[in-house]
Amino acid sequence: MHQIVRDTAPQDGNQLHHCLMLLHGRKSDIPSFPMDIRRTQRSSMIQKYYDNDVDPAAIAKKTIAVIGYGSQGRGQALNLKDSGLNVIIGLRPGKSWDLAKSEGFEVFEVAEAAKKADVIQILIPDENQAAVYRSFIGPNLTKGKVLMFSHGFNIHYGQIVPPADVDVVMVAPKGPGHMVRRTYTEGMGVPALIAIHQDVSGNARKVALAYAQGIGATRAVVLETNFREETETDLFGEQAVLCGGITSLIRAGFETLVEAGYAPEMAYLEVLHETKLIVDLIYEGGFTKMRSAISNTAQYGDLTRGPRVIGQESYMAMQEVLEEIQNGTFAKEWILENMVNRPTFTALTRADEEHLIEEVGAEIRAMMPQFKNKR
Ligand code: NDP
Ligand code: MG
Repeated sequence: MHQIVRDTAPQDGNQLHHCLMLLHGRKSDIPSFPMDIRRTQRSSMIQKYYDNDVDPAAIAKKTIAVIGYGSQGRGQALNLKDSGLNVIIGLRPGKSWDLAKSEGFEVFEVAEAAKKADVIQILIPDENQAAVYRSFIGPNLTKGKVLMFSHGFNIHYGQIVPPADVDVVMVAPKGPGHMVRRTYTEGMGVPALIAIHQDVSGNARKVALAYAQGIGATRAVVLETNFREETETDLFGEQAVLCGGITSLIRAGFETLVEAGYAPEMAYLEVLHETKLIVDLIYEGGFTKMRSAISNTAQYGDLTRGPRVIGQESYMAMQEVLEEIQNGTFAKEWILENMVNRPTFTALTRADEEHLIEEVGAEIRAMMPQFKNKR
């Protein structure tokens, strides 16, 4: 199916529509969606690590420079410090610098921190990393050091090319920085991924695991992946499901109800507010737990209508989105977008901020006591 489509589809970004037109008359070529997942075999068992698998000595005497003190930088650095590790922070003067200082860290310019450290964890926004690496980190990345990331974008898409005589690893918590911090203070941890891009020392995995323990991740579980798999699944997840998928689904449901004449307040409560209640149940116990909590009517509607809303067209769009991640189209687009000061990012963000669902939502939340301190 894909080959037929790709050979004839125009390259102008209108591929999905073209695709659908083409496929219309060729139903027999189309794999049937949704797939029966019970037929899908698990191909390999992923490697898992816990506290007992860690050799803390791998990192105990090293100086760790955390570059950036935002979401991940703050969460990871505070946990490492509370685990007794030697952490310094690399930043430019500004708000984060003052915050890191006030929370008890030694703070240096990025180049100075990179120079002092044995392990350099880059936790500034992905789109700034290549420039900061080129000017300040690369020149101080001497033989035997360890370069670390929490996301594989810049390595996988070739924006950062480290020298051959350093270890390059990833320790990527599967949760936002404030959760990394909060779960640690509660005695648990957020699960994390590790990956090894370069292992010159032969110790790269040990260092990654010891760092993962320092941020609390081995109290939960650490899974081993590779930079390509982490980057591609992470981008796909946020685009198709977590961020892009869910906002588009909610917006479409809201617009459908409002256009049909229902009160926007009703539409908001139904399709946005209640999403959290359902997602919490799925998070706790999968689809099974969620379905045991809803009415039989809701469950019948879920099973028979859901696959019509997310049907053939959505599966095909997901495949295209995944291909654009795999072949670098998305990465190139995002890198170029940043070079021209983000016109698309800015315009689309503004348009969504002005959407009726945001206006109605702000009004409704202002009336609800549970949101008092969250605005
Ligand atoms: P943030 O946007 O929170 O990072 C902001 C921090 O970076 C601030 O301290 C900022 O300092 C600093 N910074 C930005 N630009 C520069 C610069 N040019 N020089 C020095 N410091 C700079 O990033 P995240 O924590 O969201 O992401 C960091 C990494 O973690 C990324 O690779 C991301 O993919 C990954 N990740 C993020 C997750 C998340 O939940 N956020 C989850 C898992 C991985 P200042 O105040 O001076 O601007
Ligand atoms: Mg992610």
